[in-house]
Amino acid sequence: MASTILWFRRNLRLGGNAALQQAIATGQSIVPIYVVDELDSGSASRWWLHHSLASLDADIAELGGQLIIASGDPGKVLPALAHEVDAQAVVSTRRLEPRAALQESQIRRALGADALELADDCLLNPPERIATLTGSAYKIFTPYYRAASAFNEPPLPEATPANVNWFAGPVDSLALADLELLPTSPDWAGGMRDYWEIGENAAHRRIDSMAENISDYALGRDLPAFDHTSGLSPHLHFGEISPAQVWHAIVNSARERGLEDAAEPFIRQLYWRDFSSDLFYHFPTLPESPLRDEFRAFPWTEDPAALQAWQRGQTGFPIVDAGMRQLWHIGWMHNRVRMIVASLLVKHLLIPWQSGANWFLDTLVDADLANNSAGWQWVAGCGTDAAPYFRIFNPIAQGKKFDPDGTYVRRWVPELRELPAQFIHEPWTADEFTKQTSGVRIGKDYPAPVIEHKRGRERALEADQLMRSATTA
Ligand code: FAD
Repeated sequence: MASTILWFRRNLRLGGNAALQQAIATGQSIVPIYVVDELDSGSASRWWLHHSLASLDADIAELGGQLIIASGDPGKVLPALAHEVDAQAVVSTRRLEPRAALQESQIRRALGADALELADDCLLNPPERIATLTGSAYKIFTPYYRAASAFNEPPLPEATPANVNWFAGPVDSLALADLELLPTSPDWAGGMRDYWEIGENAAHRRIDSMAENISDYALGRDLPAFDHTSGLSPHLHFGEISPAQVWHAIVNSARERGLEDAAEPFIRQLYWRDFSSDLFYHFPTLPESPLRDEFRAFPWTEDPAALQAWQRGQTGFPIVDAGMRQLWHIGWMHNRVRMIVASLLVKHLLIPWQSGANWFLDTLVDADLANNSAGWQWVAGCGTDAAPYFRIFNPIAQGKKFDPDGTYVRRWVPELRELPAQFIHEPWTADEFTKQTSGVRIGKDYPAPVIEHKRGRERALEADQLMRSATTA
């Protein structure tokens, strides 16, 4: 009996899964497989993937099936499996990384051009759909958003099927543990384990809670001390929930309560996600090369000691250190703080944005090549839609504005816990008595700033000027 292979990629769910629906529509038995490959990199992401696969396997088992797990090049693994289970078709969801496209063409070469069917449900709109009047890609978010959000509502996602005709025959599978996705130091994952629940059901619990609290999003989303954002990014990255599911959950709930305006700032973020993927699709070198050519002449510096201080949350700027330690402990950082820490690295410290992006890719559970690269290029000023380089965040002022009483800093930088709020974002300015009674000796209990803010700002402006003269010379 012929079968169909359901190749799970960044769609690790059963509800609202277009590829699963396509597989069911073939009327053949379904062989569900995940192939761990070179695209599954990043220590925190691999940790998440381990648990996400475990959760998917349990959900498939509830419907009477078993997830096959393999490792290697999908371009080779899937044609071999197709031969073994007599499959005429492989269905999956599309990925935009250039290496993913190579895998897809390898499978088509081996099994026939029509043998691979790809659903397009990782984004609200596939990148080809939204184009300017002249047919080119949008480079600026606002007109992109206007064009993309004018499109029809995303199709209503299908519910989880009640029955699936899984392939009955035996198929070799690796055990999850064989994949060695978990970090070798279990201590490191402790914070992530405590913080996250992983899998499709957990993603739905998060979206339900976001829908309920949508009125707090617009004002609260910039305050890192509170949970006013959804925390859905790793679930969306791995496809434990689709953007269309998120869209419908939020918009329908808001409509029922007359809160459409409150939902808009949140839905807008889903379009930022689409926009980043759109940029990546049209500019595949986004992770490595600046989108603005003049940045090729930027005088970046290599400063391993400063990079390490930044990675370890020891820069002496409390809001930055809080963010970097939050990242290390739970594999996630608040969006506002991502912008502040990234800015310190590329502007005050003049360290190439790619070094910061690589650290994020290794330590974020939501590490996403498109969103991360677009985020870093935006902060560094070299993205198509970026704020100009000469707009330099002041990490002290940012801290005071977005964490006014220092709750966020105290949570992640415990050595500053006793400092009064007026000094929490610039502890070196506290008088000797306050420093003593708060147990903060600068340079001993907590580092002095890695560079003085004013000096960092001047140096960044000089570097910007150097780049401009190099490109106009
Ligand atoms: P919410 O505010 O609840 O937003 C809902 C969803 O919208 C998010 O889950 C996410 O999928 C999407 N979203 C929100 N903001 C953005 C944005 N600015 N760009 C693209 N999509 C967005 N996001 C990642 O998913 N992976 C990354 O690797 C990543 N790296 C980043 C690096 C830098 C330097 C910066 C400035 C931003 C980066 N972001 C990245 C975007 C953003 O910080 C996170 O998506 C957001 O903090 C996730 O938290 P949340 O789910 O609570 O977001």
